[in-house]
Amino acid sequence: MSTITIKIGSNVLTGPDRRLNVDRMEDLARQIAVLHSRGDKVVLVSSGAMAAGRGMTSDYEHLDPVAQRQLLSSIGQVKLIDTWQQIFSAHNIKIGQLLLTKQDLRTRAHYLNMKNCVDVLWNSGVLPVVNENDAVSLTGLMFTDNDELSALIASMMDCQKLIILSNIDGIFDGDPKDPSAHVITEVRRGTSVAQYVQASKSDFGRGGMVTKCRMAQKTAGAGIDVYIANGSASDTILRIADDDSSLVRTHFEAAGRNTAVKKWIAYSDGFATARIVVNEGAATALLDTSRVSSLLPVGIKEIEGNFKKDDIVIIADESGKNIAVGRVATDKDTALRQVGAKRQRPIVHYDYLFVYPQV
Ligand code: GLU
Repeated sequence: MSTITIKIGSNVLTGPDRRLNVDRMEDLARQIAVLHSRGDKVVLVSSGAMAAGRGMTSDYEHLDPVAQRQLLSSIGQVKLIDTWQQIFSAHNIKIGQLLLTKQDLRTRAHYLNMKNCVDVLWNSGVLPVVNENDAVSLTGLMFTDNDELSALIASMMDCQKLIILSNIDGIFDGDPKDPSAHVITEVRRGTSVAQYVQASKSDFGRGGMVTKCRMAQKTAGAGIDVYIANGSASDTILRIADDDSSLVRTHFEAAGRNTAVKKWIAYSDGFATARIVVNEGAATALLDTSRVSSLLPVGIKEIEGNFKKDDIVIIADESGKNIAVGRVATDKDTALRQVGAKRQRPIVHYDYLFVYPQV
């Protein structure tokens, strides 16, 4: 039995006419139905609400961007989920709709509630179909894009694989439009593909290729195999599920597996209340993957912002680069008092610390 999160981008689900491409959706559903029938647990993260909305009304251009998003996503989401429901019912699969905002994952209690919800659906044989609740999400408090949302779900559900389907074959070692550019098929742990990636946002929804890559590396760092592949190629989902390496796609190799709490912390940086700048010795110790290090008060150089016990904080090195995120074991005043003390207890214990993969 495998557990897989599959994210399908708007550019896979819609054609040039801006309407939902039902043939494509049927083909992807057929593949997901095969996984479902053999007992694999799948979460489908489906974009396309705004795109579907654009195909249903043209009366939105006079609205401001927030109002456009609210209008288009609310009418489009109905169409999107209705289409998925009809398609999956032909395979006797019930779907359940989950519309999330970032705020729904604010605390560990929110997060566990969400995890529980997906478990309930899975245990009842229902396929969860997830999207961001764009109609009510606050600008500035949104997921970067559905890649981030799918990475978080894959991590939350402890999935073995995250498959991100878009309309190109993977990450290219140059401009995808240049015929001499090739797809980078394997990204081994600890290596970087950042230097190849074009900063262009074209065709990739809210995020761009750079964001896509960064998210993929972080998720692989959390212990999940990530695949960026072309949703219109033949049997993409099935071939990835069956580890068919002859498929042209980019695979980010999973690093060692993390605990459930660490996975939550990896994606909770959006809720950090403070930033702790650490000295060089502490930064070196935290980044050394060959040993296990907690952040001790003696490593603190400066604290920006405030925190209470159990809050999430970002940890940065002296140059200002964010290197980790973690949950603090004390409040700020106690932490500051301990900076000079002997035999200190960790401010952020290793078990509650996620060090960003170095790319
Ligand atoms: N939630 C958006 C939609 O369904 C898509 C966001 C994205 O493309 O990442 O239209």
